[in-house]
Amino acid sequence: MNIKRNILLNPGPATTTDTVKMAQVVPDICPREKEFADIMKQLRHDLVRVAHGVEPKHTAVLFCGSGTINIDICLNSLLPAGKKVLVVDNGAYSTRAVEVCQYYGLPHIDLQCSLFAKPNLNEIQAVLEKNSDIAVVYTTHHETGTGLLNPIREIGLLAHKYGAIFIVDTTSSLGMVPFDIQEDNVDFCMASAQKGLMSMSGLSFIIGNREIVEKSKDYPKRSYYCNLFLQYDFFERTGEMHFTPPVQTTYALRRALKEYFEEGENAKFARHKRVNDAIHQGIEKLGLDYVIDRKDESGLVVSVKYPTIPEWDFNKIHDYCYERGFTIYPGKISTTNTFRLCSLGAIDTPDIENFFVVFEQGLNEMGIKTPIQK
Ligand SMILES: *Cc1c(COP(=O)(O)O)cnc(C)c1O
Repeated sequence: MNIKRNILLNPGPATTTDTVKMAQVVPDICPREKEFADIMKQLRHDLVRVAHGVEPKHTAVLFCGSGTINIDICLNSLLPAGKKVLVVDNGAYSTRAVEVCQYYGLPHIDLQCSLFAKPNLNEIQAVLEKNSDIAVVYTTHHETGTGLLNPIREIGLLAHKYGAIFIVDTTSSLGMVPFDIQEDNVDFCMASAQKGLMSMSGLSFIIGNREIVEKSKDYPKRSYYCNLFLQYDFFERTGEMHFTPPVQTTYALRRALKEYFEEGENAKFARHKRVNDAIHQGIEKLGLDYVIDRKDESGLVVSVKYPTIPEWDFNKIHDYCYERGFTIYPGKISTTNTFRLCSLGAIDTPDIENFFVVFEQGLNEMGIKTPIQK
């Protein structure tokens, strides 16, 4: 089968390999068969390895849903009665966690920090010092909207110093930048199959400390479908998801993990880095500006300000690129209009070089001379 290869520079889902796409085409199977449970078992094991966890201390629990389901599950399941969540909030994804707290009526502190720089650790410490009822500290590792990478190791150290557990949304960093659940002082991390692992959307997973999951059995139950202990316990007893899993997506993830380990973590980090370098080169050559300082950036998302020239029209340049197989993504950060170029998927530097040829052509056809004069 010949499948058109699109280069997705949006922040996930990412470009996948043909072998991952084709891995979904399998004979029909009832997911309650042992053959399928064996696949699930191997997936759980491999996912713990991706996060550098160790079994049995760490475990992975899979869910059917997009990445946001993990945020929902972790927050509603891991907060003991009478305790509070502290959200270190410096971007759209941590704000989403605050919204989850609001929907469930969870006591929480929304520590709003600058969207354009790393959070201030002294400020976090002061909040922990003042609020001895904080049981969960929560933040996002890589804020995908800006490209900012948060200092999770330091935040985790603080959380533990004050007796709280540390939950991190690693959806857009796991498997792409160095991460070690133990060394980074993380109790729970999470991701979905379509980002760092370059697989299909619809399957998400939480990797974390088994003892805490077991303890959460006695915490208030705030959701049925989205309860971490319930799903974990069902997996442990039966090897299966509690309810129907996304069958074909599961086969794709199995294949994607095989390719992940074959490429090798370090080689993959190096590839993302060279793709990101190529993006920076292209942007600088065109005379465009970034949203955040490169030193604070993850190396996975380049967030670019719209040029302030009358000929600029994001939709026009988007459509020009899209028709030629390249997808770019708009986003508003506070009051700043931006677009993003991400290095998530199965792409490499020639794809970026080809993209910039098309992008520059598109700009020129819109009447924008390059490099852009501001
Ligand atoms: C993509 C992403 C999510 C999940 O978003 P979905 O639309 O539910 O897939 C969560 N957190 C971060 C940081 C992300 O980049």
